Amino acid sequence: MNIHEYQAKDIFRDCGLPVPPGEVATTPEDARRLAEQYGGTVVVKAQVHVGGRGKAGGVKLAENPGEAMEHAANILGMDIKGLTVEQVLVTPAEDIDTEAYVGVIVDRASKRPVFMVSREGGVDIEEVAARSPEAITRLAVDPRYGLLPFQAYWLAASLYDDIKQQRAAAKTMMSLYDAFIQSGASLAEINPLITTPAGEVKAIDAKMNIDDNELFRRGAIAAMRDLSAEPPSETKAREADLTYIKLDGDIGAVVNGAGLAMATMDLIKFYGGEPANFLDIGGSSSPDKVIAALEIITSDPAVKVILFNIFGGITRCDDVANGIVTALDRINFELPLVIRLTGTNEEEGVRILEQAGISASTSMDEVVQRAVVVARGE
Ligand code: GDP
Ligand code: MN
Repeated sequence: MNIHEYQAKDIFRDCGLPVPPGEVATTPEDARRLAEQYGGTVVVKAQVHVGGRGKAGGVKLAENPGEAMEHAANILGMDIKGLTVEQVLVTPAEDIDTEAYVGVIVDRASKRPVFMVSREGGVDIEEVAARSPEAITRLAVDPRYGLLPFQAYWLAASLYDDIKQQRAAAKTMMSLYDAFIQSGASLAEINPLITTPAGEVKAIDAKMNIDDNELFRRGAIAAMRDLSAEPPSETKAREADLTYIKLDGDIGAVVNGAGLAMATMDLIKFYGGEPANFLDIGGSSSPDKVIAALEIITSDPAVKVILFNIFGGITRCDDVANGIVTALDRINFELPLVIRLTGTNEEEGVRILEQAGISASTSMDEVVQRAVVVARGE
């Protein structure tokens, strides 16, 4: 789950990171009022779940409340990489001397949280990694001990020459690690971590991704979910308790069980097709889930054929068949269906479908081949 900058900054502040104050506004008038309250120059920042807002025109300095209102009016409703800005963060502007990058991610290769820090902040870290990998210092953290003070100092020493700034940065990194662990994050990033002309170290941008599997035990963080900022198909899938991942192909697949869904995608690829999604309708499937699955898949304009691959164990084939028939009644779509049903109550399931004029097979191989052919338009 992605959260907004202002939410990540709230978490950072709670963990003791040096983050300037700030509040969100949803109208230009609110932005003006906040700018008045802070006094001096403020920054108006688009709150969307993508990086590079600055380059896209979503981060603007305002010297007075009137200008803050103007910027907010321009930024609210702006489209940044396909996302509409609904909120702006208003925060007092800082004078910047240097911009560094500090991030911690869960790294699959080392199976640990890994810190990455660089003197080249304010730009995309992927860019730095590609252009000058030696400019990034890395450190894998042993999760049993956490980030130890000497490690934090070692990282900080790669960022700053000034001892006071090294101390401040080391402390910031210890706090960042706390924030990362306490929130169940898979990524926590400060870009840029700035120094001011007065020599202070401050985090003026914040980004966090939370591991979805950590949310059930973190109510306060789960409540930060902003549904308006997420793809509607994923929201709908989550509400229906389906596991759905959109892919780039044209064969929409409805499968019960993650393993069978993976095998189905493999077989689609094997026969030269491309899956449009991964979708697991789960174990004991109710007709409602089938309906939700069809609604999600048919809303993807790339899909040319819908492939059902159901192996009835706990899932009963008659339930799935009823779901398909009910869904066809309720939602309107023209897409061809290719269905494989086998296992528990298979005969009953096939009978229900045939009564509705839909044919079904019991062979996975056969239906996947047919789906690939249909998708090609042959
Ligand atoms: P991003 O583009 O989405 O990463 O948004 P950032 O919050 O990182 O802002 C982008 C850039 O705007 C920063 O790298 C800074 O150069 C500039 N910026 C952001 N906040 C301030 C500020 O308070 N003062 C000044 N002078 N520049 C800022
Ligand atoms: Mn940034």
